Amino acid sequence: MSERRHITTAIFYCNGTPHVGSAYEALAADVFARYWRRRLGRGRVTFLSGTDEHGDKIRRAALAEDLAPKVYTDRMSALFREAWQGLGVSFDYFVRTTDPIHERFVQEMLRRTHENGDLYFRDYEGLYCVDCERFYPEKELSGGQLCPVHNRPVERISEGNYFLRIEKYREQVRDHIAKNPGFIRPERYRNEALNMLAEPLTDLCISRPKSRLDWGIELPFDSNYVTYVWYDAFWAYLSVPALAENPGDMDAAWRRAAELIACSEHFIGKDILKTHAVYWPPILMAAGLPLFRRLNVHGWLNFGGQRMSKSSGNVRDPVSYERAFGPDVLRYFVMRELVYGLDGDFSEERLVQRYNADLANDLGNFASRVLAMAQRYCQGEVRAVPGADLETNLQERVGRKIEELDFKGALEEIWLLIAEANNYIVETEPFKLAKDPANAARVEQILANLLEILRMLAGFLEPFMPVTSWRLFELLGLNPESDAAKAASGEGLKPGHRVKPPIALFPRIDRKPAA
Ligand SMILES: [Zn+2]
Repeated sequence: MSERRHITTAIFYCNGTPHVGSAYEALAADVFARYWRRRLGRGRVTFLSGTDEHGDKIRRAALAEDLAPKVYTDRMSALFREAWQGLGVSFDYFVRTTDPIHERFVQEMLRRTHENGDLYFRDYEGLYCVDCERFYPEKELSGGQLCPVHNRPVERISEGNYFLRIEKYREQVRDHIAKNPGFIRPERYRNEALNMLAEPLTDLCISRPKSRLDWGIELPFDSNYVTYVWYDAFWAYLSVPALAENPGDMDAAWRRAAELIACSEHFIGKDILKTHAVYWPPILMAAGLPLFRRLNVHGWLNFGGQRMSKSSGNVRDPVSYERAFGPDVLRYFVMRELVYGLDGDFSEERLVQRYNADLANDLGNFASRVLAMAQRYCQGEVRAVPGADLETNLQERVGRKIEELDFKGALEEIWLLIAEANNYIVETEPFKLAKDPANAARVEQILANLLEILRMLAGFLEPFMPVTSWRLFELLGLNPESDAAKAASGEGLKPGHRVKPPIALFPRIDRKPAA
């Protein structure tokens, strides 16, 4: 089978607004998606984000604002969608778990799972955290009575429910993780997952009686129940892309889902590692589907030393940074500053420093100098064949780092090229040579080389800084999708091609704008 990628962010639970922490995940997944699109072609990559809209927490958040749940989630979901669009997140699908196509797909997976014999009904008395919307075995509670996540008392609830046999699949899942080193990465999370699967698991309760909660997807085999919000949300990775094209054909949808999941790269935060490493694989297996390709787990973004989250009150609107600093700046900053997988600190002071040093000075100055000299000494025309050895294997090195989720390292490589290119100007001194007409051929060669480096840079930057990349190609007089834009080093710009005069891409910032 030809190589494909299906890249997903988490399906964001929309009882709060998007913040820089959630944007970080969407941006990392976007860099990855854009990279793979360039490498494999548009038709071989799909990128999906979306919102998780069922469950008790949403129902109660809507109630608090005196709104029907669907009216509330329409509003909240739009905030996520618009924020991602404002940040240049290039999703192909934005899936809402209240979409009727999604609901029909979930019901089909429930039906298949039930038919396979992996669901059973039993009366259950257990300790339930309303905020987690799940039961806890007593041994997992803090002090025997507090939710380990929310640190507040759980309730004892007794009711009949449907359970998914996850213990049945535990050894198989554990084996798969053990035999596939890249399946969960970075490595530390793979080890955590193996530990989570070392002990027998309690089967997963996947239903909620409508008498207690009706804001959910009805079980196709028992109309007194809706499905558990987590079970519902997982399927958003597959539902709409699998079913949207041919909503009547469930077998075709299942086959398409099987193809998509096998090439799925999920981007998630470390707080939902357990659900994705322990519950999601058996949910797939019980529906007769293969496992996902990879789980790419990131750390938390701290703000002033505290985790950025809905509950800590230190959330910032990610799009406000784009408005204050211009397009691509927040993207560049979080990808350059944070090590994927580890927690990192977000600081506005640091953002201004990086902006001035990396964007205004290094990148912005290089682009304006080269384009200005091209106008002054060559009337904006490429007048020589650029050298072919301007960068050595940078394409491979940047690509490998992005594939390994080392986004910071990939940007460092790209900035080394900018530094080398700036040195090349200092060493060759085209501005001095140009004073003597006898040097014209040499000056034209240097400028052709520099313009070709700028062209390569525009391509390398595309996954990280799509607007800047587009502007650079525009200044170079190239369509970003053209063969010339995508050509190997030395094969892009041809003699006779014309470029445009410079514009200020990143004007220096002297004081911090209000974000
Ligand atoms: Zn809880």
